[in-house]
Amino acid sequence: MRPTTAVIDLDALRHNFNTIQKIAAGSRVVAVVKADAYGHGLVEVAKALPQAEMFAVATPREAYKLRKAGIQQPILLLEGFFEAKELPRIVENDLQLVVHHSPQIDALKRLKTDKKINIWLKVDSGMNRLGFKVEELPQIEQDLADVECINEPIRLMSHFASADDPKDSFTSQQIETFLNSTKHLVLERSMANSAGILEAKDAHFDWVRPGLILYGCSPMIGTTGADYGLQPVMNLESKIMSIRHVNKGESTGYGRHWFADKDTVIGLVAIGYGDGYPRHAKNGTPVWVNGRTVPLVGRVSMDMLAVELGPDHNEKIGDRVVLWGKELPAEIVANNADTIPYTLSCGVTGRVHFVYR
Ligand code: PLP
Repeated sequence: MRPTTAVIDLDALRHNFNTIQKIAAGSRVVAVVKADAYGHGLVEVAKALPQAEMFAVATPREAYKLRKAGIQQPILLLEGFFEAKELPRIVENDLQLVVHHSPQIDALKRLKTDKKINIWLKVDSGMNRLGFKVEELPQIEQDLADVECINEPIRLMSHFASADDPKDSFTSQQIETFLNSTKHLVLERSMANSAGILEAKDAHFDWVRPGLILYGCSPMIGTTGADYGLQPVMNLESKIMSIRHVNKGESTGYGRHWFADKDTVIGLVAIGYGDGYPRHAKNGTPVWVNGRTVPLVGRVSMDMLAVELGPDHNEKIGDRVVLWGKELPAEIVANNADTIPYTLSCGVTGRVHFVYR
C-alpha cells in the first residue's frame, strides 16, 4: 500500500479540548467541526469528544452525517439555511440555526411545525460578512417576536475579523460594538473563535467556538500550537520512494525551479498536491526525514516531491517522512507555502489513508 497517511491522534484532540476548557474556564465550548473537522474526519472527531456541549458545522449535510452516526449533542448550523424547503429536515434533526439575514426570519415565520427551534442571532460587529448591522437590531428583535417556532431565549453571536493579530485594535472595537449594541438584552453571548480564545479573554462570554486550536494549531501570527500548550492532531506522513544523485547545476522537477549548487543527493517522497500537499510550498520548506529537517527542492508534483538529503546522507528508500505534525508544526509549513494551517489540513485529499489513534 502507498505509505501516504494522515495519522489522527485523538488523545491530542482531547488534550486540546481540555486545554481550551482551562483557558476559557467559565465558558461553554462549541466544538467547530465543519469542513470534515478541518480535514480530520467529521464523525471520528465528534465521537472522540463526548464532553463537547455542542458541535458547529457549516452545512445541513454535515449535521445530518453527525446525526446518522449517532451524535446526540446539540448541533449548530453556522450558515443557518439557504432555502425554506430545508427547514422541515433541519427541525426533524433537531439542529440549531444561526440567523443572519431577514429572509431567514420570514421563512421561519411561515414554517408550520409543533417543534421549537433554537436560534442564534448573528450580529455584524465589523467583519462585514454575515450578520445583522447594529442599526438593524431593534427591528430584528421586533420581527423575531412574531415567530412562533423559535425557542426562547435566543442566543447572540458575532465573529472576529482579525483576532489573529494581537496588535490590531479592531478586535477590541468589535467587542465594544457587540456589547454596546446588545447590552439591553440579557441573553447568552458568543464571540471567540480560536484567536479570540487565546488572546481576547474579555470576549469569552458564555460560549466559545474553537476550530483550529482543537486540532492543535495556532492562528496567531508567528506562533505554533505548542506555544499555547496545544498538540498537533494531524500527522501527515509518507516515505522516501527513490534516492538519486544530482550534479551541480542540474535541476529537479517541473519547470526547473531549483538547481543544485553542488553535487548532491535528493530523495523523492511519495506525496504531492494530489494528496493535498501545497503546490506553492517554496524551495527550502522544511520536511522531516528520519530525525532531521531537510529542504524541499523544486516544484511539488501531483504524486511526489523532492527533498535535498545532501551528499553525506544516511537515508534509504522506505525511511519515514513527516510533512507536518508532531515533528514539524503545520504553521511553519503553511508559512512557507504562503497560506494558513487551516488550508493544509482541509486540503488533504481522499487519496490519503487515514488512521485514528
Ligand atoms: N465561528 C465561526 C462563525 C466560524 O466561521 C469559524 C470558522 O471559520 C469558527 C467559529 C472557528 O474559527 P477558528 O477555526 O479560527 O477557531
